[in-house]
Amino acid sequence: MNGNALNEINDLHWTLGLIQNLEVGLVVIDRHACIKLWNGFMANHSGIPAQNVVGENLFKKFPELPENWLNQKLESVFLLRNPAYISWEQRPYLFHFKNNRPITGYSKFMYQNITLIPLTSPTGDVDHIGILIYDVTDTATGQIALEDANKKLKKLSREDRLTGLYNRGYWEECLNQEYARYSRTESVSSLVMFDIDHFKKVNDTYGHQAGDEVIRVISQALQGQARKTDIAGRYGGEEFGAILTGTDGINAMIFAERLRENVESLTVQYGEHLINCSISLGVSELNLEVQSATAWLEQADKALYKSKQNGRNKVTLFDS
Ligand code: GH3
Ligand code: MG
Ligand code: MG
Repeated sequence: MNGNALNEINDLHWTLGLIQNLEVGLVVIDRHACIKLWNGFMANHSGIPAQNVVGENLFKKFPELPENWLNQKLESVFLLRNPAYISWEQRPYLFHFKNNRPITGYSKFMYQNITLIPLTSPTGDVDHIGILIYDVTDTATGQIALEDANKKLKKLSREDRLTGLYNRGYWEECLNQEYARYSRTESVSSLVMFDIDHFKKVNDTYGHQAGDEVIRVISQALQGQARKTDIAGRYGGEEFGAILTGTDGINAMIFAERLRENVESLTVQYGEHLINCSISLGVSELNLEVQSATAWLEQADKALYKSKQNGRNKVTLFDS
């Protein structure tokens, strides 16, 4: 054997050693999906050594693989002779391997990025494909955790702490949006505003904490009565609003009257105290004469004020 040939064999030996010990999965298959190479990473994570898979059909050996989907990708790599990339965001994994990194406790399985590489033979033909499998569990779980945190943060920024209703800022945004939607589509919509009657007396008699409990219970009554499309918010300390989309004034009055009766019949228990309350409500249906979201709100507020003037525990429909 001459020196050149010996060098080449040495090179090959090192290359094979590298491939075996790569921290990346490598599988080589031919045109019939027959497995030609299965490196150490694949053997470790699947628990199946190379001698048990080399020479076998990939899909017969691993029936859980998405055969049609993967075949399409492989076909196009054979045809176009270009690599293809599949990220974990498109498909979380190709091979179902356990996630064995104890630090990233988020995921039970290994997230994978996949690269399909056309392998050119010395004659220039592409008869094999190399499948590279990258473990991206850390990146994926990190990103998923970040997205979850952002979702939670978004929800928190919209929510009133005491009641879980929308807070004033977000509720007003919704009111503006609903007004804009009306301007485009003229689809019917109504607004109900209400305020707890003589609430100062509740605080003075039973204390601020008891007052908070009353606010919570009344909010629950509102939430319990609202449909999915209704937008309920805490407008002020003891003032609330509900945007009833797709609801005309008459039906909004029915909603308001039912809520009034509901609150009137509630007894809030706080310690040994039993507290009864009532609310005054104002209703305003959106029509073409209403010039802005603020004007809409003012109409409902005027109607509410009328309910207060007329003795409280009442519902009033705004009438121009
Ligand atoms: P009415 O509306 O019937 O005219 O009388 P009211 O006594 O309810 O009058 P007003 O709206 O002026 O007073 C509201 C009181 O609500 C004043 C404030 O101390 C109290 N309040 C506002 N926010 C909160 C809160 O978050 N918790 C508690 N416990 N009290 C609050
Ligand atoms: Mg008030
Ligand atoms: Mg009040």
